[in-house]
Amino acid sequence: MSGHLPTTDAPAYRGRFAPSPTGDLHAGSLLAAFGSWLLARRHGGEWLVRIEDLDPPREVPGAAQRQLDALTAFGFVSDLPVVRQSQRHGLYEAALQRLLDQDKAFVCHCSRSDLAAAGGVHRRCVAHGPRAGHAAPQAAVRLRVADGAAVEFDDALLGRQRQDVAREVGDFVLRRADGHWAYQLAVVVDDAEQRITDVVRGADLLDSTPRQILLQRALDLPTPRYAHLPLLLDAHGRKLSKSEAAHPLNPADPLPALRAAWAALGQTPDTLVAVETVTQLLRAARDSFNPAQIPQAAPGLAAMHNDPDPNAV
Ligand code: GLU
Repeated sequence: MSGHLPTTDAPAYRGRFAPSPTGDLHAGSLLAAFGSWLLARRHGGEWLVRIEDLDPPREVPGAAQRQLDALTAFGFVSDLPVVRQSQRHGLYEAALQRLLDQDKAFVCHCSRSDLAAAGGVHRRCVAHGPRAGHAAPQAAVRLRVADGAAVEFDDALLGRQRQDVAREVGDFVLRRADGHWAYQLAVVVDDAEQRITDVVRGADLLDSTPRQILLQRALDLPTPRYAHLPLLLDAHGRKLSKSEAAHPLNPADPLPALRAAWAALGQTPDTLVAVETVTQLLRAARDSFNPAQIPQAAPGLAAMHNDPDPNAV
């Protein structure tokens, strides 16, 4: 007996795919699943699935299980048990409390219309108490973003990114006025708690990354590496998830969608022409995957920073 405590080595590479169960798996999310899986396997790493079911108003009943079943049909199975955010409220509560105790977060009664004059960017409270006549169960909680707070990071696919979070986003929401956790808080807590080393996801989330890095710093958590994949666009240039009906995925016939995702990742279609099963396809894909061929997402951060905060009160 050495008397040493068992050491738990941090994984060298651990990626994840984190769908929200707001509908069935579509071609855009398959691209993110496949891309994150390929990069994990390329690095000899682990790949986890996390269900981000923190927004009951937007959740579609049964969608989480259908997404997991579809992922399995496409050959993607989490290396560790699937985590569901709806069962992790205690972790988010503890993180929020730490921020409140350290005065890094504050309770806020401002409504969307209160902030309209400032373009939705919160820099100081303009509402001083609960709104009269409103049955809002609680106030929102926001992260205090210091004047001039800017974040720079190197995206593995898009290169150097920079966002002035104070000016472009402002004090952002951690817990919504309706009591639900904001995506930004939950994702940061979970990526750290699950010891994710590499976040690989669609470029629609690129403009959330600086907020997540600021939050990691406020909570003294490590910052993972980031890579944002190109988005699938439909014939009208719209993000595919908005028009997914045009591209339904058929888990009973997985090869065509996997081949399409492979091509969208800039990989050579010939590699997968002769394969006949999902297992063969994923093996061939893993063996010939070349990350240098992934096309860059069209809009960089500068073009995206004015998107409204999806978690705004
Ligand atoms: N749950 C988010 C979504 O489905 C993705 C979160 C992430 O990958 O960070 O859009």
